[in-house]
Amino acid sequence: WKNAPPSLPRFIGASRAAGDQLFVIHEDERVTYEANHRAVAALAAHLVGLGVGRGDRVALAMRNLPEWPVAFFAITALGAVAVPLNAWWTGAELEYGLTDSGARVLIVDDERHARLAERYAAAPALEHVLVARASTALDGIADRLEDAIGTPHDWARLPDAPLPDVAVVPEDDAAIFYTSGTTGAPKGALVTHRNLMSNVLSNGYSSARSALRRGEMPVPPSPRVLLTVIPLFHVTACSAALMPAIATGSTMIFMRKWDTIRAFEIIERERVNITGGVPTIAWQLLEHPDRGRYDLSSLESIAYGGAPSAPELVKRIHEELGALPGNGWGMTETCATLTHHSGEEYLMRPDSAGPPVAVADLKIVAEDGVTELPVGTIGELWARGPMIARGYWNRPEDSAATFVDGWVRTGDLARVDEDGFLFIVDRAKDMVIRGGENIYSIEVENVLYAHPAVTDCALIGIPHRTLGEEPAAVVHLCPGCEASEAELQEWVRARLAGFKVPVAIRFVADTLPRNANGKIVKSELKALFAV
Ligand code: ATP
Ligand code: MG
Repeated sequence: WKNAPPSLPRFIGASRAAGDQLFVIHEDERVTYEANHRAVAALAAHLVGLGVGRGDRVALAMRNLPEWPVAFFAITALGAVAVPLNAWWTGAELEYGLTDSGARVLIVDDERHARLAERYAAAPALEHVLVARASTALDGIADRLEDAIGTPHDWARLPDAPLPDVAVVPEDDAAIFYTSGTTGAPKGALVTHRNLMSNVLSNGYSSARSALRRGEMPVPPSPRVLLTVIPLFHVTACSAALMPAIATGSTMIFMRKWDTIRAFEIIERERVNITGGVPTIAWQLLEHPDRGRYDLSSLESIAYGGAPSAPELVKRIHEELGALPGNGWGMTETCATLTHHSGEEYLMRPDSAGPPVAVADLKIVAEDGVTELPVGTIGELWARGPMIARGYWNRPEDSAATFVDGWVRTGDLARVDEDGFLFIVDRAKDMVIRGGENIYSIEVENVLYAHPAVTDCALIGIPHRTLGEEPAAVVHLCPGCEASEAELQEWVRARLAGFKVPVAIRFVADTLPRNANGKIVKSELKALFAV
């Protein structure tokens, strides 16, 4: 088999069928599918010249630029392993990614280069650095990426060259994606070509299934315009936004930085159909006072995942933005979303993350790590399917503990209802245990979110001498809104058992601290309750 499907070189080769369609819009740069393919082929040839081959790691440290997908597909076309690093990481964290992955080559944008240049010497395997959009003179191992492939404005005029002739099979390693580091140091999840392709294939299944449920034919979706605001270095953006966008010949719009007014302008001007990523984005679109001044009628779907979202949001997206809300559960180790939830089904079960995609299995397992629990019982979520990562890069012990007999132990606590819908209740590490009673933070957070003044909140455990822990909450109110600690406690008491009522509530002026992937960093909140 040479480049057997499903592999990324096959996939990017097939994308040429979309030829003149716009693939990426970034400020005044407009890149067609054909131009993108030419840039991929040119960069792949350049990397071959640098000695990059099968299994070599090539790190990628960039915000969402047109160069990102070009680099990703050029690296993976060579059977080399792309290592997308978190662009919001500090110099020290980026250095960790470079050394942990043992990258030989780094493709980096100007901002990351400035943050990292003096640390290149600390990465023992690093031989070459290609800098996109360099604003200063380069020296040492760094060269300009533009010297190899030109700028996005030039890509359509690059020669029509084939991808280098390298055999890639579905089981080959394609990428290392780092987890968000919410509960510890980020771990590199090693994913194969099959893992990355399976989301596109299962998306097809899922949309076909949803269409059939609606009584429609399961036709392939037509090209759409996406406003992509989540970073591509996060596996969900790569496998659940970039890959399906290519599969449908859709146009992706990259934003330099999230800005709600800019987003409104782009949605109106480019007639954007799909946006979202994380629940925060949806909240910001909904709550902005100037929303009414823009024509947002092109919006069809606002989908998100990666973090718990309030059921409140589902109704409001539907009623106030006229778009279909969507949700999906996944983790870096699953390379993709394992559940999909949208449309009527989501409006009816707004607290669920949806049913598993057609190619995945879920089960709920007791603390002993063996006993499978019946419908409706809360336990640890385990998942299996063609998208589950092969393991962690260079972490045999963590791999053995997490990847068990083809299943991934997720560390999330959840239940599944009789129709197979998944309800995430907490991370095992975040659950508050008050004198032996379990308090699942998402349940209390959802009740707080339902209060009209609350737009952001988190439940955490604070130490207690005899009970072990007690629940406490951190809350951010909408601009101009008011609510007292006692009022919110009363609100929760009226809806949940007394032991779940936060014993203390702190109000913060800003939204809660989140990491680069939109997750609330609960460990940082405990300090607010220190006496
Ligand atoms: P680390 O593993 O390094 O501590 P992380 O778990 O935050 O970080 P990711 O792999 O980015 O890193 O996130 C996966 C986690 O995000 C899941 O385990 C789950 O807790 C949460 N999550 C993802 N999707 C959803 C969703 N739809 N609803 C609720 N929680 C979600
Ligand atoms: Mg995790």
